[in-house]
Amino acid sequence: MSTTDTNTPLINTRDLSVHYPLRGNLFGKKRVVRAIDGIDIQIPKGSFFGLVGESGSGKTTLGRALLKAAPVTRGTAQYNDGEVDYNLVSIDGDDLKEYRKRAQLIFQDPYAALSPRLTVRDIIAEPLEVMNLTGSRDETDERVREIAKRCRLNLEHLRRYPHAFSGGQRQRISIARALVSNPRFIVADESVAALDVSIQADVLNLLRSLSSEFELTFLFISHDLSVVAHTCDQVAVMYLGRLVETAPTRELFASPKHPYTRALLSAIPSLDPDDRGRAQKLEGEIPSPSNPPSGCKFHTRCPHAQKRCSEEEPPLVSGIDNGVNQVHDLTEHKVACHFWRDL
Ligand code: SF4
Repeated sequence: MSTTDTNTPLINTRDLSVHYPLRGNLFGKKRVVRAIDGIDIQIPKGSFFGLVGESGSGKTTLGRALLKAAPVTRGTAQYNDGEVDYNLVSIDGDDLKEYRKRAQLIFQDPYAALSPRLTVRDIIAEPLEVMNLTGSRDETDERVREIAKRCRLNLEHLRRYPHAFSGGQRQRISIARALVSNPRFIVADESVAALDVSIQADVLNLLRSLSSEFELTFLFISHDLSVVAHTCDQVAVMYLGRLVETAPTRELFASPKHPYTRALLSAIPSLDPDDRGRAQKLEGEIPSPSNPPSGCKFHTRCPHAQKRCSEEEPPLVSGIDNGVNQVHDLTEHKVACHFWRDL
């Protein structure tokens, strides 16, 4: 147990790394996939924190590591909500059970995430029953009805099966299931990616209003910066297992500093024909995390790469204060590029 000041982040990682060993090659040389490598991230309490990057950048692995669902190879990860203070790398036993109540996942695919054999009531009630959080069936039903209403589900629907619902309704069922244990931290992994654009806005609005109502902290994982723009307070951009830029959302969109962030931003469709002409196309594929480039991981695709870029990896430093500011500021703008000031 601990009490903390309000500036203590809910999640605080240092050098967090998840590496998966691969089988040795013909010559017996062992290789590893560096799914995430050296992640320093602070997620403020009550924030809606966006994590973006292409497929293969390590976003999902980072989310899973914070939910204690991926094995940490190196580094630290601390969870502190003011009531409990957990080391997520070594947590086990009763603390881990308690953490499972406080940290939940909303899946990407609302079609695959819901068991077709359970009614909506049973799907939402499952975490309460698995974790023994209620004393009776009546209490469980009361909690299920309450959370269903908050997630704008019709109570008549609790008796039906998932196949009867649209994608948006199914995602609201998934959200209700994630919230029923009264968590503090939610990892939403591509939670609107499978939905039609018109439904996405509806689900995003619901997530935002629930986050205020329940004082939740969200890690919102998405490959789509345009979704993050209207939802998140802060954004971290990942590339090949590393963070390359973090900033408050408005700051990131107004003044992106890393070439990768700029390329992602310029890929957002614009109604302005002049903007379309200025788009920076991202060439090539993201390299394999089992054989990452030397130096800056982005140098094989960066239009501004110079000799130093392939030799020396740029650290993630503050883009506002030339990297010398020692103040622990959760909202500062950081960038990992040797030459951001010249671009
Ligand atoms: Fe591009 Fe070099 Fe900056 Fe990497 S360090 S983003 S390669 S300019």
